[in-house]
Amino acid sequence: MGKKFKPKKRLKAEEYINGILDGNRVILSRAITIIESNLESDKKLAKEIIQAVLPRSGNSIRIGITGVPGVGKSTFIEVFGKHLIDQGHKVAILSIDPSSQRSKGSILGDKTRMEELANLENAYIRPSASGDTLGGVANKTGETMLLCEAAGYDVVLIETVGVGQSETAVHGMTDFFLLLMLSGAGDELQGIKKGIMEMADMVVINKADGDNIRRSEMAKLQYQNALHIFPQSKSGWTPVVSTASSTKNIGIDYVWDKVSVYKKLVLENGYFKQNRINQQIQWMYNNINEELKRLFYGSEDIKEHLKIFEKEIVSSKISPVKAAQSIIQEFKDSF
Ligand code: GDP
Repeated sequence: MGKKFKPKKRLKAEEYINGILDGNRVILSRAITIIESNLESDKKLAKEIIQAVLPRSGNSIRIGITGVPGVGKSTFIEVFGKHLIDQGHKVAILSIDPSSQRSKGSILGDKTRMEELANLENAYIRPSASGDTLGGVANKTGETMLLCEAAGYDVVLIETVGVGQSETAVHGMTDFFLLLMLSGAGDELQGIKKGIMEMADMVVINKADGDNIRRSEMAKLQYQNALHIFPQSKSGWTPVVSTASSTKNIGIDYVWDKVSVYKKLVLENGYFKQNRINQQIQWMYNNINEELKRLFYGSEDIKEHLKIFEKEIVSSKISPVKAAQSIIQEFKDSF
């Protein structure tokens, strides 16, 4: 770091809006910076931009990608992204990494990832927004996704690490959920919980090359069996398990084939639209929750009184329930 933070001069709302709709990547990046900003004036500007580009958003297939660190996510996304671009698509790659705070570094890493892809005209890569809460980071990524769509990206890949709650957030904002796994490591080792397997539309056993091919095929059978025990998804889709080698570019096109078959199915049976509507409603509630928490815990009076109540609870002067009720009452009275 070392450099003094000096915010760039802001453009007018129309300049951002027109730039995004023209597919101007520099303007798109600057608009995303505004979405990620916590300044009140930027928040107002961000709302205006989003509102204006909203009618031009939504025209993409949104794919969530997860897997533990080291499974090969960035290697996979690099070849997968290039494959899509070769086919004429414009691909945006976003990530949700709640551990990402500029000062602390992140799980997905600050190393330069997907270098070749990043140099392509039709790829746009944006690292995770930083923030205190997963909900806050996810909201910002969701808004970034809308901007990318309005800028003409017709495939949006949202990457996250398979170790916490972030995959639920990614699942909640994507159409297709892809889980990358490794052969030979138990589920526990990979930190993959049953709930995550259940969300997957496709499981890809990566690193199926060299000595690993046979083991990967066996793992494929095991995961196929494991997926059978889950109830049929509302989408009408039966999850697929496949093997791939991201370094040798084997099985990558197959993943896109499956995404395309899935898309056709859910467009025809109405699930695609219904799922997006449900996600939007859920997104509203997520926003309400985040904003309420921000208002409540951000209030200086509340902060002060919470400290006092903590002490009173320790000395048994007040019950936790009574303390909670009093502080909520105080919050209500403040409006
Ligand atoms: P991420 O942490 O999930 O993003 O994983 P990376 O993409 O950084 O990959 C971790 C390591 O696995 C790197 O050294 C890659 O070169 C390697 N790797 C990724 N995909 C494959 C693959 O398909 N086969 C082999 N043999 N190695 C791979």
